Amino acid sequence: MSAVEKLIRPVIAGLRGEAGFLYIAKARELARRGVDVISFGVGQPDIPTFDHIIEEGKRALDDRFTGYTETAGIPELREAIAEYLNTRYQADVKPDEVLATTGAKTAIFLAVAAYLGPGDEVIVLEPSYPAYPETARAMGARPVFVPLKWRGQDHGFELDVEAIEKAVTEHTKMIILTNPHNPTGALFGPEQVEAVLEIARRHGLVVLADEIYDNFVYEGGFRSILSFSGWKDHVLYVNGHSKTFSMTGWRLGYLVAARPVIDRIKKLAVNVYSCPPSISQRAGVAALRGPWEPVKKMVEEFRRRRRDVVVEELRRVPGFEVAVPRGAFYVFPRVARVLEETGMSTEEFVDHLLYSRGVVTLPGTVFPEKAGEGFIRLSYAISVERIREGVGRIREEVEKLLAEKAR
Ligand code: PMP
Repeated sequence: MSAVEKLIRPVIAGLRGEAGFLYIAKARELARRGVDVISFGVGQPDIPTFDHIIEEGKRALDDRFTGYTETAGIPELREAIAEYLNTRYQADVKPDEVLATTGAKTAIFLAVAAYLGPGDEVIVLEPSYPAYPETARAMGARPVFVPLKWRGQDHGFELDVEAIEKAVTEHTKMIILTNPHNPTGALFGPEQVEAVLEIARRHGLVVLADEIYDNFVYEGGFRSILSFSGWKDHVLYVNGHSKTFSMTGWRLGYLVAARPVIDRIKKLAVNVYSCPPSISQRAGVAALRGPWEPVKKMVEEFRRRRRDVVVEELRRVPGFEVAVPRGAFYVFPRVARVLEETGMSTEEFVDHLLYSRGVVTLPGTVFPEKAGEGFIRLSYAISVERIREGVGRIREEVEKLLAEKAR
């Protein structure tokens, strides 16, 4: 083995990639061979960035706004972010409590790297967005998984506050709370968010609150963690432009925390990436300033048509249990009964759907393992026609599998 290979830290060599990207590659390969692939795999809206945002990006280029900026982001951007959060959540955020980053993922990375090292523990709800445990592991820290409780298709997944508190040890520093939740589409109510904050207060912990889906809320009951008084003593808040404004490729996100915290984390940021892309920052200001009608229209389309159709269609698949997702754009059906009947593992079932019918879904086990066993994730950020066609194919295949079994 070469030195360049041998000397890499084992923990980095052992990290898991993000399954979404793996399945995108598998789907591309199938499509290249002429298969009509329907992908429920990707976590991004299917529409391009809204026109007024693109126009501002172009203007930034025309103005030759192409150099480094302040590490935390241009003042206009930090002001626009603070104003957005304050108007919406009465959050009392000051512009110098905002650190703009290269996507929400970088905000997560900075927060994890700044707080967690060897010997430290972080409580992660499972199923979970994989970046949290993987970055914690990369830093030498230990993710401690607390499963969400599956309460059947009428109630979906619930946060187990007691189990979270039980998981706290003398090594715990952080609890990660994603709301609305990826991959389950669950929405945690104000009492639950407050209970998590209360645990943080009692044990002197920080809550890394990822609210990147805060605009994808289809029923009442969402309250940002920033609207609770005293959040500045315990919260590291993550959000970004990727989902709300369909700007995944612009790489713009942000971290919000008390000023002394931001000042310190900024030192890590400047050493890692200097500043977020200048052009994206100008576009990001235009996004927040509005008009917001395109966002509202997009969210309405997700709620009224896509979500309702995907749930209705999935509930017609034999053996599927489907909770109505209340936020984000994911649905996380339980398929355990189909697996029992057919003897397939979750991954085998997902591969089977891909190779027999050209339908991309993700196995729940990539989020990141046990609690997702027996579940699959579908992102319904595609047209209603494709949703019907895709779930129709899943239904036909499951019916066929079950009929073969019965014979
Ligand atoms: N947090 C969650 C919960 C996400 O689902 C995603 C994207 N899939 C991100 C963060 C990362 O967002 P970005 O593309 O802005 O880095």
